[in-house]
Amino acid sequence: MTKGQEYVKRVFEQVKADNAHEAEFLQAVEEVFDSLAPVFDKYPQYIDDNILERLVEPERVVSFRVPWVDDQGQVQVNRGYRVQYSSAIGPYKGGLRFHPSVNQSIIKFLGFEQIFKNSLTGLPIGGGKGGSNFDPKGKSDREIMAFTQSFMTELQRHIGPDVDVPAGDIGVGAREIGYMFGQYKRLNGYQNGVLTGKGLTYGGSLGRTEATGYGTVYFAEQMLASIGHHFEGKTAIVSGSGNVAIYAIEKLYQLGAKPIACSDSSGYIIDENGINLETLKRLKEIERERISKYLDYHPEAQFVPTGESTIWTVKADLAFPCATQNELNEDDAKTLIANGVIAVAEGANMPSTLEAVTTFQENGVLFGPAKAANAGGVATSALEMSQNSQRLAWSFEEVDEKLYGIMKTIYENAAAAAEEFGQPGNLVVGANIAGFLKVAEAMSAQGVI
Ligand code: NDP
Repeated sequence: MTKGQEYVKRVFEQVKADNAHEAEFLQAVEEVFDSLAPVFDKYPQYIDDNILERLVEPERVVSFRVPWVDDQGQVQVNRGYRVQYSSAIGPYKGGLRFHPSVNQSIIKFLGFEQIFKNSLTGLPIGGGKGGSNFDPKGKSDREIMAFTQSFMTELQRHIGPDVDVPAGDIGVGAREIGYMFGQYKRLNGYQNGVLTGKGLTYGGSLGRTEATGYGTVYFAEQMLASIGHHFEGKTAIVSGSGNVAIYAIEKLYQLGAKPIACSDSSGYIIDENGINLETLKRLKEIERERISKYLDYHPEAQFVPTGESTIWTVKADLAFPCATQNELNEDDAKTLIANGVIAVAEGANMPSTLEAVTTFQENGVLFGPAKAANAGGVATSALEMSQNSQRLAWSFEEVDEKLYGIMKTIYENAAAAAEEFGQPGNLVVGANIAGFLKVAEAMSAQGVI
């Protein structure tokens, strides 16, 4: 074993002992650590500095009570979180997730990933993440407002435009950001840089809604170009039907591909004519309906309920997991490969298990890991922060052009780091190393922090 390998192994054993019950967090840490041994062989001073031990410990974990009153007059209580992971290169930045599965492990995994993702964007933003085990499904607008106002009443103590700038994630879209922004403003006065993903009438950026999905497809475009391919004529599976999935589908159409399947937690649909984007947007963005409703408008499509088979059994050239963590396992990866998949780009965070990633890589499938492929969302959030600071609003084209440039640079930097550290084409290793190096250098420069 090299010194770097020994160091990484030793620290990971300690992280496992200290966080034994946090499975998702350990999975995210393992994936990053697996890539970093060659970095420590090249820069042994980082071993002397105990850089990994420091980086893997969040600067701060805040957990709080969120009491609110439902439409029946009953008092409800949820748990809120904000993990302020690393401010080495800028203010904490990362989304808020409202989903019943949210716990400390999930928020820590997301926050840890966010450090490297934010570093890869090239913009000065540190890593953080937050959320609640609140389930927005089936709640009235009034209940959503009651919950988000209570959530922000506590969260506002910990955030600020130069301190920590949350955004959306699963279950947190324009409506939730609006209510939270309103509550922050009542308590602290108007500071538009405190949240991103805001509405266009009060400081939001054009292109932010589309950014994660568009960015993932721009990243995949670079992956395909590396083997002389393009989107024209290719079919795609996009899991999920939320913010990321919808705009990945939109961009796939614009670049000549045909998305034929998408999903929600109740099941997936296949439409061999191509998913009708207008119907999908109406069902999901306006009516907040289940995906099976799609068949009311397109009876030629098929609906397969969850539990019967997974969306990954659909035959297609490209796959974009855009729903949630660990939604694609080793068996799914094998099925996709048997069906001839060429490229997989992760729109969601950690959607593929470690075994699935290895299976793709061993079988020559182009693989774009989340922290690189879905970095367009947070990058555009940082562009929203810049516009807020300047008190300017850029055009959609200006933002989209910047997004495209950022995604291309992330691809190039990840590919170059993979090459430099002896694993050409391995974008998992490349993204982890490129993201890590900037943070490690910043930490070293700032002393023992
Ligand atoms: P949304 O809430 O808009 O949509 C989430 C979609 O995924 C829905 O279709 C939802 O179905 C499905 N989904 C969520 N949880 C599960 C689950 N446990 N099992 C099956 N399906 C599930 O979220 P986003 O589109 O914003 O986020 C999707 C992914 O992208 C997440 O991993 C998020 O962290 C990541 N991401 C998002 C960014 C953003 O800018 N929004 C930025 C970077 C990454 P249902 O409605 O039935 O629950």
